[in-house]
Amino acid sequence: MIIIGIDIGGTHFRIGAVEDGHMLKFEKVPTASVFCTSNAIEDLARKIRSFGEGIDYKAVSVGIPAALDRARKTVLQAPNLKFMERIPVVDGLSALLGVPVIAERDVTMGLCYDAAKYDLPQEGMICGIYFGTGVGNAILLDGKPWKGHNGVAGELGHIPVHGSTIPCGCGNIGCMECSAGGKYLAVLQKEKYPDTPIGKLFAVHAAEAPLVEFVDLMAQAVAAEVNILDPDALVIGGGVMNMEGFPKDLLKERIEARLRKPYPAESLEILFAEDEPDKSVVGAVRFALNQLKGEKEC
Ligand SMILES: [Zn+2]
Repeated sequence: MIIIGIDIGGTHFRIGAVEDGHMLKFEKVPTASVFCTSNAIEDLARKIRSFGEGIDYKAVSVGIPAALDRARKTVLQAPNLKFMERIPVVDGLSALLGVPVIAERDVTMGLCYDAAKYDLPQEGMICGIYFGTGVGNAILLDGKPWKGHNGVAGELGHIPVHGSTIPCGCGNIGCMECSAGGKYLAVLQKEKYPDTPIGKLFAVHAAEAPLVEFVDLMAQAVAAEVNILDPDALVIGGGVMNMEGFPKDLLKERIEARLRKPYPAESLEILFAEDEPDKSVVGAVRFALNQLKGEKEC
């Protein structure tokens, strides 16, 4: 069965047609080039129709960097995709395309991909923490996303950091992702290392105090989640963690220092996931396939 997987990022829009785990066609375009009218659902349907011309796809699966409602029908809040908020993405798109449409948080799609790639346990709890522009977090319980009462569980990026006054895109002040995400790394680069390109920050300055503090805050975020949930597996990934020279050993050491002893400290194995350009698209298709079969979702 061919399914179209989509990853709507704040900057890039990725779309792919996948059959039996194989990518048949893939495209990456600026998000702004897709959403060019005031009707986001029609824009999205138009893009899918043109991409899918001649392809006999049976479903569409959309990953969105947003808080979704528990039923996964509507986007509640998407700081970087305001035009997607409070519109019936799933039902609207399905009506226009005539195929089932599935929506989920982008990080959950990514964690589904990593869970399969790294052969993680299918039972129990898997936590995925992805340090990109923000701090993405997904939690799977027995292969299903742990959604919470309102659908908004797994927002590690928005736990408060003591003393921080940085305004967050979510509307609050001093959220974790404001100090432990790539956005803050860009601020550090401008203020402390204007002569080093951002991609080289860790390769050149990893041992210096500002970046050690940054990594330490990443570790605080990870340790907070692990101490609360005691997961069966932990995946850490994202663009920041995959930058040249990123000190994984230091991150690991700082996480372990903050974990409760003896457990989860003694048993936790950290899996560092590689970044792959189409992982969220393939993950979205895998997620949809399992959901359509009525099995576990990842
Ligand atoms: Zn926030």
